[in-house]
Amino acid sequence: MMERILNYIGGELIAPESKEYMDNYDPSTGLVYSLLPDSDERDIRKAVAVADKAFAAWSSLAVEKRSAILQRIADLIDRDLDAFALAESIDNGKPVSLAKSLDIPRASANLRFFASGAIHFSSDANITGKEAINYTLQTPLGVAGCISPWNLPLYLFTWKIAPALAAGCTVVAKPSELSPMTAYLFSKLCIEAGLPKGVLNVVHGLGSKAGQALVEHPEVKAISFTGGTVTGKKIASIAAPMFKKISLELGGKNPNIIFADCNFDQAVATSIQSSFSNQGEICLCGSRIFVERILYDKFVSEFVKQVEKLSVGDPLEPSTNLGALISQSHLNKVLGYIELAKQEGGKILTGGTQVKVPGRCEGGYFVEPTVIAGLDHRCTTNQEEIFGPVVTVMPFETEEEAIRLANSTPYGLSATLWTENLKRAHRVSAEVKSGIIWVNCWLFRDLRTPFGGMKQSGVGREGGWDALKFFTDTKNICIRL
Ligand code: NAD
Repeated sequence: MMERILNYIGGELIAPESKEYMDNYDPSTGLVYSLLPDSDERDIRKAVAVADKAFAAWSSLAVEKRSAILQRIADLIDRDLDAFALAESIDNGKPVSLAKSLDIPRASANLRFFASGAIHFSSDANITGKEAINYTLQTPLGVAGCISPWNLPLYLFTWKIAPALAAGCTVVAKPSELSPMTAYLFSKLCIEAGLPKGVLNVVHGLGSKAGQALVEHPEVKAISFTGGTVTGKKIASIAAPMFKKISLELGGKNPNIIFADCNFDQAVATSIQSSFSNQGEICLCGSRIFVERILYDKFVSEFVKQVEKLSVGDPLEPSTNLGALISQSHLNKVLGYIELAKQEGGKILTGGTQVKVPGRCEGGYFVEPTVIAGLDHRCTTNQEEIFGPVVTVMPFETEEEAIRLANSTPYGLSATLWTENLKRAHRVSAEVKSGIIWVNCWLFRDLRTPFGGMKQSGVGREGGWDALKFFTDTKNICIRL
């Protein structure tokens, strides 16, 4: 019988109240390979009730003990690295090599980082002369709701639940219905690690049903959400009038700016990564490449040459660079944008079509890495998030123009700059309206740094103390001396 994913509520792996399940596809074959719960507000109510009940004991447990349990779960992820990487590759379509080198190690790193961070978390005291002492009390909020997307399933799931649990909150999490398997395996490890019942609850199902019920639940004090901008707007419209704390990490249309004085080889090699890692399904991928005019022809020719060496194929093959897109509908969306780019006057320099991978993966959702030139920065292709292996290349003349082009979308998540000129790096970084700027690198993360976007890429900052603070109430106490 096909494997059934179960909800994790009150420390037990259980079926949804509806007893209904949905198909879970392997994107590399296009075939259903497991089933996931079609949970609804009844499951959410049950999960919030047990999380609420577990809160008093969890939040008053010594932080060292909370930390030790999270560290134990991280140890178990490391022990099961191969199994997790395989599960994530099958569930998501990403190359198993990427899951093994990036997603799964980062998931255990998230747990370790926040487990130790919570121990070192301190709050301020201000001495107001001889008249008063003010001190700040940070207390865990209660039940937190964590909603995560499909593209980096375990990585982003743990990025949310780890600070919440470390801060002393209990959690109801809703992983993406398109990539639920690793959160299910994670639930099993929580049981093995002895996480007290009800502290973490994982409810699987549709965003519009289970996800929305979580956002609407009055006892859920905070919503930490990562996903699309349209969903973020919907969540904000429900949570804001209820005065919940919200953190929204949303979409991007990130610029990758290449100045003529860059280290050429590094700029090309890293741009390959920043364009096509995880099939371009990373919110931080640079999908608009701007190249200084005098370097444009040389850069584009070398970039395209290297793109053509990338292999698209079976995610389980160690040599595969690009695996399958997440779903049939996402494949259609990405191919639709490539068609639109042509209608908008774009010239496909390489790629542009679906790939049929023979054998096991012949029904999978594969697309060639695609580079498009000749488009105006204001056209739809250059304004909307495609979230696939598609990048555009455009020339610019001056630093001012590069900044203007970089800032010409409603998004502001991340940006990458390539220049050996230190003053320029500082100048441009200050002017580009993105929450994360990488100079001469990409996706280099220090988990202590604030993470998040500007404009329609979201509100709130995750990472470091920001994340631990998000899951606490802040109170100032003034003692008159
Ligand atoms: P999505 O918005 O469709 O779904 C994200 C999650 O929200 C899923 O778990 C989904 O079930 C749930 N959801 C959907 N509708 C909901 C509702 N009405 N109420 C509550 N929950 C609901 O996004 P996706 O397609 O899973 O992910 C891709 C998007 O995520 C892209 O736009 C990408 O840029 C973005 N993303 C952003 C970051 C970041 O850090 N800024 C990171 C990764 C992905």
